[in-house]
Amino acid sequence: MLTLEQVVKRYRSAAEEIHALEQVSLSVEAGEMLALQGPSGSGKTTLLLLAARALRADGGTVSYDGRDLASFSEQQAAQYRLSEVGLIAQNTHLMARVSAVENAATKLLLGGVALDRAREQAMEWLERVGLAGNAQRTPEELSGGERQRVAIARALAGQPRLILADEPTANLDSQRSIDIVALLGGLAREEDAAVLLVTHDGELARTADRVLALRDGRIETDVAARRA
Ligand code: ADP
Ligand code: MG
Repeated sequence: MLTLEQVVKRYRSAAEEIHALEQVSLSVEAGEMLALQGPSGSGKTTLLLLAARALRADGGTVSYDGRDLASFSEQQAAQYRLSEVGLIAQNTHLMARVSAVENAATKLLLGGVALDRAREQAMEWLERVGLAGNAQRTPEELSGGERQRVAIARALAGQPRLILADEPTANLDSQRSIDIVALLGGLAREEDAAVLLVTHDGELARTADRVLALRDGRIETDVAARRA
């Protein structure tokens, strides 16, 4: 579903050029969860942002269902992010002074779902991430981990076919982390989503179908292939 071929990404400033990704190739299929591990600065977030078409590659090809993301107009890119992609970003960017359920409903409303239906679906997702009791709270009334889970609910509402999760468990305790990664794995297996999970946690990574390691912008090893 998602394919990267020989992808290169560089950040330029007046002083220097950073080689964030060098010749990265990988694919994630529907029904599969791929974990991506790597130290800070290895290019994990860059890779997810390229897959979400929030950034453009400097070389190589990123494609979705066989369509080159570079060929998308800005409008097609916005539509792609809204209807196909569930991006769980490192920074949650929740709206202040707006309740958890309304934050979780944002993408649905942008996608044209009616208010009542959007709130209903957002509530279901808050329940799935264990936040049903906090639906009326605003972000400042929630802990960091709770805010993270609101952002997860927002990303997953609307059933995106491609889920891009950037260290989604960074603020969660170990049991919550296991639950969230199990939820993502379940969406791959049961709903046929393609899941790309960035995590520092080797134990969580090993629950994925495959694990890739990124170092200095390059894929290191195909650590495990454990699909039965
Ligand atoms: P990771 O998510 O694995 O920590 P990133 O993709 O965020 O890695 O970053 C990869 C490299 O690119 C790092 O050296 C980082 O400093 C650099 N980088 C990331 N974003 C930018 C940016 N907007 N401008 C300049 N350099 C950046
Ligand atoms: Mg990152």
